[in-house]
Amino acid sequence: MSDFSGRTVVADPMARVARSRHEFGEHGGVNLSIETSATFTVMEAGKMPALFEGREGPKGGCFLYGRHFNPTVMVLARHLAALEATPHAYCTASGMAAISGALLHACDSGDHVVAGQALYGGTWALLHDFLPRKANVHTTFVDLSDLKAVRAAFKKETRVLYCETVSNPTLRVADLPALAAIAHEHGARLIVDNTFSPVTVTPALHGADVVIHSLTKFINGASDIVAGCVCAEGEFIDGMYDLHTGSLMLLGPAMDPRAAYEVATRLPNLGLRMSAHAERALAYAQALEALGAKVVYPGLPSHPDHALFRRLANPGYGAGGLLSVDFGSAERANRFMEHLQNTEDFGYMAVSLGFSDTLMSASASSTSSELDEGALRAAGISPGWVRLSAGYTGRLEDRLAQLERGYRKALEVS
Ligand SMILES: *Cc1c(COP(=O)(O)O)cnc(C)c1O
Repeated sequence: MSDFSGRTVVADPMARVARSRHEFGEHGGVNLSIETSATFTVMEAGKMPALFEGREGPKGGCFLYGRHFNPTVMVLARHLAALEATPHAYCTASGMAAISGALLHACDSGDHVVAGQALYGGTWALLHDFLPRKANVHTTFVDLSDLKAVRAAFKKETRVLYCETVSNPTLRVADLPALAAIAHEHGARLIVDNTFSPVTVTPALHGADVVIHSLTKFINGASDIVAGCVCAEGEFIDGMYDLHTGSLMLLGPAMDPRAAYEVATRLPNLGLRMSAHAERALAYAQALEALGAKVVYPGLPSHPDHALFRRLANPGYGAGGLLSVDFGSAERANRFMEHLQNTEDFGYMAVSLGFSDTLMSASASSTSSELDEGALRAAGISPGWVRLSAGYTGRLEDRLAQLERGYRKALEVS
């Protein structure tokens, strides 16, 4: 496998990102430049048709129009391709734009998708409600840990097996090599949302064909930008920008080059941030487990996918920044979060993840509220389920004391 520039892939994801960076510097600076132009000139009139037909494009140094490709966004895309060890990548205005763009490119009317039953709420609604109505693309949701059920869900129209590396919010780990094998046996693509585990896991090295991120979360890391990307081989990316049938070209969720610049400047410290998030998440998970809480964290030996996670994870970055606690009731979950935010200043009650401070949300009433009751039950999301995105601010000792007080407060609710 080779990256954008055709060089061999090195094992460490952040080393790949670092190697992809120094190729840039067209004005000799250490940072990338922001190319704000929405339209680009040609020197010969005859070049226009070639650009429009895609015979020439950014690979040859030629740009056409900002919704198609932009040089600054292209630099960020190159770094993300390096991060995910895919030959190519491109960026979108949001994670949902990346997910819908990739699915609409991989599927035509009448096609079928097999997907995990625990997914980000927006993705679940896209597959369950939007795509059947708007595109005649239907999805069968399955428990991905049951490989027999996964295989049985395939039909001759199945084009995509869709999963999250670490599922939202249940934090189950997808057996990527086994899922890739099943998808490929059936001539389908494995599309993986790696939003929860950048740097931590590199799905393309385990057989994924397309890797998607909501850059809004860990990769940008500052909760100030909404953005996404699709990492895949060049043909898949180019197909999404086809003038006649390209899902991203025609639906148009283009990334602003200023956003691309911001995300790119935060990429070099992504590895440090993921390690810091993971260190905290592990400490919080261990502390809560010691108090008798029902904790879910892939880095705990009690996690059902602990061994699988260790097999898939890149060494040196820990087990991710997310942990979940099942409090058994919404009342206890709410008391826990309210006490930790309003009394302890431990973190914030907010959806999203990958921020410097801890973010807490009750999944069933927030980021998974799109799922109906049966789907919530099938996915294992109870009303007392709290998802924490562990931040890295504050002294660990202080944070652990706050967390313990929050847990004891929650138990006071009968
Ligand atoms: C947030 C999120 C998305 C959607 O991304 P946006 O940037 O909000 O569009 C998709 N998948 C996962 C796992 C997410 O956490």
